[in-house]
Amino acid sequence: MEDQIQLASRALAGASCAVALTGAGISTASGIPDFRGPQGVWRRVDPEKFNISYFIENPDEAWDLIREVFIPKGEVKPNKAHAALAELERAGVLCSVITQNIDGLHQAAGSKNVIEIHGNILRSYCMSCGTKFKTLDLISGRGAPRCSSCGGLVRPDIVFFGEPLGEPFEAAAGISSRSDVFLAVGTSLAVSPANLLPVYAKRAGSKLIIINQGSTELDHMADIRIEGRAEEALPRIAELVLRLR
Ligand code: NAD
Repeated sequence: MEDQIQLASRALAGASCAVALTGAGISTASGIPDFRGPQGVWRRVDPEKFNISYFIENPDEAWDLIREVFIPKGEVKPNKAHAALAELERAGVLCSVITQNIDGLHQAAGSKNVIEIHGNILRSYCMSCGTKFKTLDLISGRGAPRCSSCGGLVRPDIVFFGEPLGEPFEAAAGISSRSDVFLAVGTSLAVSPANLLPVYAKRAGSKLIIINQGSTELDHMADIRIEGRAEEALPRIAELVLRLR
């Protein structure tokens, strides 16, 4: 692993616009389970229940599941992997963090240029009148929260399966195609279209670094593959990059 970390650090130190794509694996050390890892949510929950049609037809059940799976039970803090990416941005190495995560932990760690392609669970809005809410203000009790202005159904500002990704994905695709190093961290790269972003980057000549515990769908495309925990590998890489810059 050490050789790969050295190689990744050298590539990042020489980058003029590195981009990171993060997934659920970067937040497991903060106590949030991933979907497809050994303790993943899919081992106990049917993925179809995160489909937009299930939400519309069964909003009460869907909200109860969202409370159980996505709403933190206690205080959730960013970990050393989030902090290392924020440090790489401050150092002028990372142009952007594209995240599939909905937990807001990159911003909490200090990253500024964050593209959330699957939304953010901390925000909700009324599907009828658009009034915005903080999700944490809505989660006491059971069933679907209703809008305090018009009584409409409130939904979390996340992308359900079956929904388009829209403008944030376009922005993510654009910056991926302009990157010279593309770092995928804590993602199985099994979810489309997010897993097209490393492909766009590679096509544009970018070097692909994958840091993940367990295999990913794009391991065969990686220039550098680091098998291991993000919260161990990334702080080490950030330290080396800052020394090399
Ligand atoms: P995924 O569950 O498909 O893959 C996560 C990968 O990270 C797995 O291969 C797992 O083995 C690996 N992993 C787990 N802990 C790790 C660690 N400490 N260091 C390095 N790797 C680790 O997740 P995905 O690819 O992000 O796709 C699932 C979808 O569900 C995405 O949209 C994701 O954002 C969403 N989701 C988000 C959260 C969150 O916001 N924190 C949590 C669960 C799922």
